[in-house]
Amino acid sequence: MGKLVIVGTVAFDEIESPFGKTDKILGGAATFIGLAAAQFEVDAAIVSIVGDDLPQAYLDMLKGKGIALEGIEIVPDGKTFYWKGKYHNDLNSRDTLVTELNTLADFNPVVPENYKDAEVVMLGNLHPGVQMSVIQQMEPRPKLIVLDTMNFWMDNALPDLLETIKHIDVITINDEEARQLTGEYSLVKAAARIQEMGPKYVVIKKGEHGALLFHGAHVFFAPALPLEDVFDPTGAGDTFAGGFTGYLASTGNLSFENMKRAVIYGSNLASFCVERFGTERMEDLKKEAVQQRLHQFKALTQFDIELE
Ligand code: AMP
Repeated sequence: MGKLVIVGTVAFDEIESPFGKTDKILGGAATFIGLAAAQFEVDAAIVSIVGDDLPQAYLDMLKGKGIALEGIEIVPDGKTFYWKGKYHNDLNSRDTLVTELNTLADFNPVVPENYKDAEVVMLGNLHPGVQMSVIQQMEPRPKLIVLDTMNFWMDNALPDLLETIKHIDVITINDEEARQLTGEYSLVKAAARIQEMGPKYVVIKKGEHGALLFHGAHVFFAPALPLEDVFDPTGAGDTFAGGFTGYLASTGNLSFENMKRAVIYGSNLASFCVERFGTERMEDLKKEAVQQRLHQFKALTQFDIELE
């Protein structure tokens, strides 16, 4: 069973969408990544920081999924990272209403000794300097380092981001962010520019329009499954990343062909995440439902055509 180190937030989220609103519920990039990765035969560990205000039941739930939690620092009398977001009617855009870093402001991630040799590392959206410090703790260098980031770090920590991405293998980024990072409107050109910056594989997420995987002259596209009901897109990108890395860590095969499969597994899991608020759908997701939807995915994209 491959080892996977996941770094990112474990958080309180509060969400408003056209379909309702939540109280403070469990969220955070590492939470969504971990729940998706737990769908595979993988030894996953979360590295994060929380306050002792985070209900023990949340940690017990993650532990119950087989995720190792010794890399989560619990700060006595500390407050957990809190994020509040509001989605617009099309669900494709959202406003961040509140971000309280709390304990995250002093996060010095410590990778547990027995996970320093993990084959795969998933660096969730965080300050690129924090992501770099995790890379430096790994020994030997992981076979695959995947990094997720966002426009916030391009605006506020670009030199650190450019340094960190020199050391990674795969970047996952959304279309607008790829354009911002490179100044290229064409995603093909943007992906080529990003590969010159370090990562040899570039995943560009396009929300309800699927995801693209670029590697040299190769390109692969996975659609998003058309869904009847979308309630809350929060964590879809992280769930994609958890499915992508969980699948790769469980198979140990890092070929481009297998990465294509990983993109499909990631997209498939993300399609569940958005069906309920927060982590609700991912918490009760059964293997049979995942398999069934994979068949739908296959049918959606398969066609026969006679070519000369
Ligand atoms: P996504 O919808 O994939 O962009 O991820 C949403 C998750 O990211 C939420 O559960 C938040 O708790 C978390 N989040 C929001 N803002 C930040 C931030 N600035 N740094 C780290 N995590 C964040």
